[in-house]
Amino acid sequence: MRTPGPADPVLAVDVGGTTIKAEITDGAGEVLSSGTVATPPGAAAFDAVGALGDRLLAELPAVQRDRVMRAAVILPGIVDPARSLAVFSSNVGWRDVKVGSRFTDRWDMPVLIEHDVAVAGWAEWRYGAGRGCDDVCVLILGTGISGTLSVGGRLVRGAAGQAGEYGHIPVRHRDGLRCPCGNVGCVETVASGAAIARAYTARTGRETAGAETVFAALDSDPDARAVVADAIDALAEGLFGVIHATCPELVVLGGGLARAGDVLTGALQDRLTELLRVAPVPRVVLGEFGARAGLVGAARYARSGTLD
Ligand SMILES: [Zn+2]
Repeated sequence: MRTPGPADPVLAVDVGGTTIKAEITDGAGEVLSSGTVATPPGAAAFDAVGALGDRLLAELPAVQRDRVMRAAVILPGIVDPARSLAVFSSNVGWRDVKVGSRFTDRWDMPVLIEHDVAVAGWAEWRYGAGRGCDDVCVLILGTGISGTLSVGGRLVRGAAGQAGEYGHIPVRHRDGLRCPCGNVGCVETVASGAAIARAYTARTGRETAGAETVFAALDSDPDARAVVADAIDALAEGLFGVIHATCPELVVLGGGLARAGDVLTGALQDRLTELLRVAPVPRVVLGEFGARAGLVGAARYARSGTLD
């Protein structure tokens, strides 16, 4: 497989639960063409990825099109990159889709597939808020919660390539809510965007547009403060074991909820400082790429061919 040169464009595709985003970028990160389509349910999502890639490639002048050397498609759920298999996504609703050669044949170039959060977390670690640090925990906070862990300058992937499931670390054993994963009191049941909105409504009887609305009301609404404090507490408890086991110097917060900004990082920093006695307290910072972490990472991955 020929490695793209510094000037060669690459195609990056981020398949999300609601939209598929794609970009062709050059070596400087300049966007040469880009597009977004709604994610159709089930395996039809892969046809939409193919059509979107076709469109972006067709938009390039022929001389540039011929220089697009590699693509990366990042997927939610459980992904088996070695077998090029989209194992399972509860959001989009596919199971055991062989991605294999379908895009390679269609676009006439090598196409890497990877897990979206692994790539987004790797990008924040290597090129974003965590760059220059060897021991970094990245949390992607959104509808669910997961992330990446880098220890000693290496991305931890685990034996099945599925490390970083912070959202399913149980923290409320006695009075916790049932998690869709089947266990009780997982971090996600308290600290995900959906959980924060749900907890606010349960506490006040008032509907809310979402977690961002709850964060926006922190100054004026004691119920919002209580709900967010509970979420921060769950996040800190979930990180507690990870921090003792690996002593990261940095915790990077990304994903939709990170738009809450300093309120979130400050509160988590304070809670970790209160809780930690033996392990050093890591710095808590916001990610630099925001919602673009996946796409930025996919382009970098397409270029390098490795998550080292
Ligand atoms: Zn769970």
